[in-house]
Amino acid sequence: MQVKTHGNNLVQLTRLIAFNCFLVREDDGLTLVDTNMGGSADGILKAARDLGAPIRRIVLTHAHVDHVGSLDALHALLPDAEVMISARDARFLTGDRSLDADEDQMPLRGGYQDCTTQPTRLLQAGDRVGSLEVIASPGHTPGHVAYFDHRDGTLIAGDAYSTQAGIVTGGSLRLLFPFHALATWNKPLAVHSGEVLRALQPTRLAVGHGRTLENPGAAMDRAIAEAKRHLGNSYASQKAY
Ligand SMILES: [Zn+2]
Repeated sequence: MQVKTHGNNLVQLTRLIAFNCFLVREDDGLTLVDTNMGGSADGILKAARDLGAPIRRIVLTHAHVDHVGSLDALHALLPDAEVMISARDARFLTGDRSLDADEDQMPLRGGYQDCTTQPTRLLQAGDRVGSLEVIASPGHTPGHVAYFDHRDGTLIAGDAYSTQAGIVTGGSLRLLFPFHALATWNKPLAVHSGEVLRALQPTRLAVGHGRTLENPGAAMDRAIAEAKRHLGNSYASQKAY
């Protein structure tokens, strides 16, 4: 597990070059954002020990396997930690892969994994988890959320953006790292969410795959423009969200 600190409150944990999760410092300990792929629990706990603070909360950006893979193992080791995920993506953890009638009926993409851990709290847009605000950013998955740290403008965007092999949003394809594009459910909706996140004017962009960017505004603008270009009419004709 590679460990890298960004600013005062964000610690990036990376496995196999491309797979990130994050520890966020709070006054009472740490919030873990995503759990990485399976087999990451020991490395995450070691990183927290090295920071000298307990993990109080586990929050998830979405239910893909490389973000929830170590959830059950961590929950077993940290039974008192809160576990939070969007109400929408929580259904995937139980094995329910159905779409709602009012969702675009596109096939789900990416790997989902059943988890035995029961969330202690289901999140809605606008909820607060410590210093983090829950930002709805559907598209990569139906219930994807990002977390915005109001203390310093850090945005933990999950897979709403990727910076591995260059910044993208909305599932634009990068041949050197195609997994982000291949795992995105609803590309027009994901581009819309990319714009919503850009409008927060984050000072720092942390993502599920790739490096963390400082002052990411211009890069996010480029990613949005590229995604809109690729999607063309399918973006222009999307229903109003
Ligand atoms: Zn994903």
